[in-house]
Amino acid sequence: MNKADSENLAGKLEQFGYQQVPKPEEADIIILNSCVVRQSAEDKVVNKLSNLKSIKRNYPDTTIVLTGCMVNSHIDHLRERFPHVDFFLKPQQFDDLLAHAEKQAESAPQKSAPALGQSPTAFVPIIQGCNNFCSYCIVPYRRGREKSRPVAEILDEIQQLAQSGVKEVTLLGQNVDSYGHDLSEKPDLADLLAEVNRIEGLARIRFLTSHPKDMSQKLIEAIASLEKVCEHISLPVQAGDNEILQVMRRGYTVEQYKDLIRRIRDAVPDVALSNDIIVGFPGETEAQFQQTFDLLEEFRFDTVHVAAYSPRPGTIASRRLEDNVPAEEKRRRLKLVEEIQERISREKNAGFLDERVRILVEGRRSGKWQGRTRGDKLVFFESEKDCLGELVDVKIDHAGAWSLRGIPAVTSEC
Ligand code: SAH
Ligand code: SF4
Repeated sequence: MNKADSENLAGKLEQFGYQQVPKPEEADIIILNSCVVRQSAEDKVVNKLSNLKSIKRNYPDTTIVLTGCMVNSHIDHLRERFPHVDFFLKPQQFDDLLAHAEKQAESAPQKSAPALGQSPTAFVPIIQGCNNFCSYCIVPYRRGREKSRPVAEILDEIQQLAQSGVKEVTLLGQNVDSYGHDLSEKPDLADLLAEVNRIEGLARIRFLTSHPKDMSQKLIEAIASLEKVCEHISLPVQAGDNEILQVMRRGYTVEQYKDLIRRIRDAVPDVALSNDIIVGFPGETEAQFQQTFDLLEEFRFDTVHVAAYSPRPGTIASRRLEDNVPAEEKRRRLKLVEEIQERISREKNAGFLDERVRILVEGRRSGKWQGRTRGDKLVFFESEKDCLGELVDVKIDHAGAWSLRGIPAVTSEC
C-alpha cells in the first residue's frame, strides 16, 4: 500500500514537472513514506529523518516531507522531534504538499522530465483501511476504517493503465476479500475480478492481501476460472495455534485455515501461496510455536514473511498483554522459521529446473532482465534486446531459494 501511495504521489508531482533524482542532495522535495507496522520499520524512518538534518542545514530550501503511518492526528510531538520537517501528512492526504509543489514549480520551472520506460506493472488500491482490529496491529488506527472504491472508478483507472502499456495490475487492500461490502450494489472481489479480466491489453491480475476468514468459495472459483487472474494468493495465517489465533483476534481456527488451503489447492492445483507469520506473540509457548512450525512443514507454502512480535502503541495487545517472550527467544523462533522456509522454497524451486516458464519482464537488475511467473517466482535471464514489458518463455537452468535463472526459450523474441 505504501508503494502504491508513493507511486501515486510521484505521478502527481511529475505532472507539475518534477522528476526523480538519485541523491537527496539534488532534490527540491524529499518525501519519506513511513511504515510503523513494527518498531524496526519505525526505527528505520527515524534514522533516515535524522540523516536529513544535515541536508536541511546545507540546503535550507529543500522541502522535507514525512507521510505514511507514522503521522497520526497528534503531529505536535513529531514537530518537536523533527523540526527540520516542513510537512507532516497523514497517509494519502497529499493536498497541502501538492499545492506547495505546484507553486514552487511555477516560480522555478523544471526541466522537462526524461521519458522513462513505462513500468509494465502497477498497484491499484481498491479498498482502504481495515475493520478487523487484530490485537497486534496498528493499521486500522493509522489507515482508518474500510472504504471501497467504486467499481467504475477502478475499471477506468485500469483501462487507462492498460492503454499506457501496463500489462499487470495488483489490486490492493489490507483485507482485499472484504471489497465492496460498503458499496450500495455490494459487488464483491470475484465480481470485480471478472470485470477487470475483460480489459483489453491487460495480461495478468493479482490481488492482496486475502484474509482467511473472508475468502469465499466464489472467489476461489473466480481465481480458477478467470484466465488473467494469476494463481497466486497471499493468505497470512499469522500463527498455527488456536489459542494464539484467538488472542490475536484473527477470527478463524487452524482447522478452518487448513480446510481453506485444501479447497484452494483442489480448485487451483498450481496455486502459489504466500504467508505471514508472527513469532513470539505474548504468551506463545514453545509448544504453540511448534504448531506454527508444523503447519509450515505440512503445507509447504511458496513464500513466508516472518516477523518477531513488536508491541505497537495503542493496539489491544500492547494495552492488555505483556510482551513476555524474550528477544533472544523471538530471534531463535524467527531463525527456525526462516531456515525451514528457505529449505522448502529451495526444494519447490528445484522443481522448475529444465522447465519452461512464462514471465512478464519488469525491469533490469545487475545487468540481467528480471520478471515473474504467474505464481510470482522471480526469474532472471540475459538478453541484448529490450525486453521490458514482454511476456517471455524462459528455460530454467538454475534454481535457488529466492529466484530462478534461465535462458529465453525463443531467442528471437528477446
Ligand atoms: N492485512 C494483512 C497484513 C497487514 S500488516 C493481514 O491481515 O495479514 C503486514 C504484516 O505485518 C502482518 O501480516 C503481520 O505478519 C505483520 N505485523 C503486523 N503487526 C505486527 C506486530 N505488531 N508485530 C510483528 N509483526 C506484525
Ligand atoms: Fe492488521 Fe488484521 Fe487488518 Fe491485517 S486484517 S491490516 S493484520 S488488523
